[in-house]
Amino acid sequence: MKLISIVVPAYNEEHNISSMHEKLVQQLDALPYRYEIMFINDGSSDGTLEEILSLAKVHKYVKYISLTRNFGKEAAILAGLQRVKGEAVILMDSDLQHPPTLIGEMLQGYEEGFHQVVAKRSRVGDPKLRSFLSSLYYRLINSITDVDLMDGEGDFRLLSRKAINSILTLSESNRFSKGLFSWIGLSKKTICYENVLREDGDSKWSFGSLVNYGIDGILSFNTKPLRVCFYTGFIVLFLSLIYIGITLIQIIKEGIGAPGYFTTITAILVLGGIQLISLGVVGEYIGRIYNETKRRPNFLVDVSNVDEYDEQ
Ligand code: UDP
Ligand code: MG
Repeated sequence: MKLISIVVPAYNEEHNISSMHEKLVQQLDALPYRYEIMFINDGSSDGTLEEILSLAKVHKYVKYISLTRNFGKEAAILAGLQRVKGEAVILMDSDLQHPPTLIGEMLQGYEEGFHQVVAKRSRVGDPKLRSFLSSLYYRLINSITDVDLMDGEGDFRLLSRKAINSILTLSESNRFSKGLFSWIGLSKKTICYENVLREDGDSKWSFGSLVNYGIDGILSFNTKPLRVCFYTGFIVLFLSLIYIGITLIQIIKEGIGAPGYFTTITAILVLGGIQLISLGVVGEYIGRIYNETKRRPNFLVDVSNVDEYDEQ
């Protein structure tokens, strides 16, 4: 039987772990697969680790990693992905917001040959403002970055071994998983489910952390914001040249109105424009350095009949 791994990051979820485990196993037992459940304790300050340890003591299929402090969900997921052995992995939250009842359908998608099966949630029950802002955000990020992100598609997904290995070739440390899942390509199937509200505890996301996450997303996948300086500089310089031209003509025709005014403004505008352009040039180089430091592979191969190039 095939081995399936479930990766579950948990941060201060002491009241959710055991019920989540119970519901998960109920689903998994009904399916023709062997399974392991990998809990990652992301530096919880409550009894989460104890809950996980007591499960691991009883069940051999329960694996765990405990991080030294809270490194964030992205890091926790990565730690899990690096250590699971299954030929497919399902990423799930520990707060039961990702219904285990979808696992069967996800595995069906996997058997059909899809490398990623994504569970997309509706935004029913979400605060109106949050839904509105996120739909706006997705439109923005899709228009300025090279990756395609869908509203409602989060980390609840199945990844084939090939997809996991592709994700693991990306060694960058500032990880924006949603973008990386899209970046690796490979075939994808989407299934939909109704939004589920959290049973216990609070979401770890505050408005501020969501904004930060949003900025991470945009910055991880392009360096276009740096180019803004460059274009603004050109526009400022161009407009100031027009201003200089018009004012010079006025001075020739009507004489100087306020002495010193024209020369001062001209110097500020022209220098401002030149400075912004120079910043843009510096920014272009920084952008390139940024992209190089991520050391992303230039491509990932899907199928080929050529031997893999042996890396030395
Ligand atoms: N989580 C984590 N580390 C963190 C924050 C969250 O491992 O620093 C886990 C958390 O325990 C949960 C999942 O990530 O299993 C999703 O977190 P949360 O429910 O707060 O996010 P939301 O569902 O509101 O997007
Ligand atoms: Mg949640």
